[in-house]
Amino acid sequence: MSPAKTSTFLSSVESMLNRAMGLMDLPPGLGEVLQQCRAVYQMRFPVKIAGKWQVFEGWRANHSEHLLPTKGGIRYAPEVDQEEVEALATLMTFKCAVVDVPFGGAKGGLKIDPRKYERHQMERITRRFTLELDKRGFISPSQNVPAPDMGTGAREMAWMADTYRTLHPDDIDAIACITGKPPQMGGIRGRVQATGRGVQYALREFFCHPEDIEAAGLEGGLAGKRVVVQGLGNVGFHAAKFLEEEDGSRIVAIIERDGALRSSAGLPVKEVRKYIVANGGVKGFPGAEYLAEGLTALEDQCDILVPAALEGQITTENASRIEAKLIAEAANGPVTAEADAMLLEAGKVILPDMYVNAGGVTVSYFEWTKNLAHMRFGRMGRRLMQMRSEAALELLETVLERQVPEGFSKAFRQEADERNLVLSGLEDTMREAYEGIRAVWHARDDVPDLRTAAYILAIGKVAHHHHEYSLA
Ligand code: GLU
Repeated sequence: MSPAKTSTFLSSVESMLNRAMGLMDLPPGLGEVLQQCRAVYQMRFPVKIAGKWQVFEGWRANHSEHLLPTKGGIRYAPEVDQEEVEALATLMTFKCAVVDVPFGGAKGGLKIDPRKYERHQMERITRRFTLELDKRGFISPSQNVPAPDMGTGAREMAWMADTYRTLHPDDIDAIACITGKPPQMGGIRGRVQATGRGVQYALREFFCHPEDIEAAGLEGGLAGKRVVVQGLGNVGFHAAKFLEEEDGSRIVAIIERDGALRSSAGLPVKEVRKYIVANGGVKGFPGAEYLAEGLTALEDQCDILVPAALEGQITTENASRIEAKLIAEAANGPVTAEADAMLLEAGKVILPDMYVNAGGVTVSYFEWTKNLAHMRFGRMGRRLMQMRSEAALELLETVLERQVPEGFSKAFRQEADERNLVLSGLEDTMREAYEGIRAVWHARDDVPDLRTAAYILAIGKVAHHHHEYSLA
C-alpha cells in the first residue's frame, strides 16, 4: 500500500524552496534560475536480454552547474521518472551547499526493477547505460560524477567506472568519474556506511543543544530514545544499527516492504537485516510483533521517526497521526510540503533531508579528492603520527610514574588511517552544517523550522556563487 500522494515530489521541493526564497532578498530573477534544472537528458536504449531486445528508459538531470562537477546518485527503481529525478537533482544542489562540498546538483535514474534481472544482465544494462551517459557528457570526473542511490551500490559503480575508463584510456583521472566504488577499485573506506553514519551524527548534533531538544518537547540524549525506522536498506540499516549499538537508542519498530516489526524492548537491527536478506521480508521474524499494514507503524508512539525509504511517505493523509516528536529525514523527500506544514503546526521538529542524509555525498567528496590525488588518505602521515603518540605516551608515563588509563591510551593511539580520517571529516562536516542551520533558525523570528533554515543557508551560498562568479 502506498500513501495517498497529495502533491508530486517535484512540486513539494519547489514549494519548500519557494517558501525559503520568499524570506530572502535575492537579486531579481535569481529565484527562477534556482528553481529549474539546467539540463535533463532522457535516454532510451536497447539491451538484448535472454535473446530478446528490451528498451530501457533512463534520465540524468543537472540542476545547478554553478560548481562543477555536478554530483548525485543514480537510482534504479521501477517507478522512477523524470520529475522524480529533477526533484532529487534540485535537492542535491542545496544538499551539497549545506555541507560545503564544492559540487553542483545532479541525479540520475533508470526505470528498472533490479530484482528481476540476473547479475550478468544487470552488468550489461549498467555498462550500456554508462555508454549513453558518456555520449552526452553526463559522466566525467570534471563535469558530472554519479554515485549510488536506491537500487544501486558499489557493484554498479565499479561497472560504470570500468566502462568509463575503457572509453577514456588516456584520462589519468578516469576513476574519479564516479564515487561509491569498492575500496579495491579506488573507493574509500566508510562510503557504504556514510549516509547512515551521517544520520547518526546529525541526531547527535541535535541532542547537543538543550534549546533544540526542548523545542521538540524531548529531554536528555539519544540513550533510551524510542526510534521507528522505515526502510532497512543501506541508509536505514546503518543509521539504526549505529543508534542502537553506539548511542543506546531503542529501535521499537522497523517498517519494510512486506510489513513492520514492533518490539517495545527494542529490535536487534543486525539480526533483522540478516533475516530480511535470507527471507526477503520481515514477516516471521521471531520475538517481535508483526504488522501486515506496515505503514501504520509510522504513527507509533515514539520519540524519533527515521523515514529512510521513499519520498512521499508522510502526507496529508497520515501527518495528523504522527506521534514522533522529532523526524530525521534519512530518505530524500519523505514528507510532502503539505504534511510538512501540518507537522510544523503540531509542534514537531524535522531534521531535513538535505542535511540529515548529506553524509553520503560528503564522503563521496572525500573519495573524489582521493582519486584526484591518486593517494589514499593518511598514507604520508600515519607513521609519523604513530611515532609521535608513542613518544608522548612514553614521556607521560615516565613523568607520572604510572601507566595511563587504558581508555586514554587507546584514544591517544587512534590511528590517522583512511577510515578514521573519513569519520573525522564527516563528523566535523555534520557538526558545522548543523551549527549553520540552527543559527539561522534561532536568529530569525520568521524562520519557523530547520528545513526553511537549511534552505536559506544553502540558497544563500548558491545564489552568491551564481551572482558573483558565474558566467551566465
Ligand atoms: N545518492 C546519495 C544522495 O542522495 C549520494 C550522492 C553522492 O554521493 O553523490 O545524497
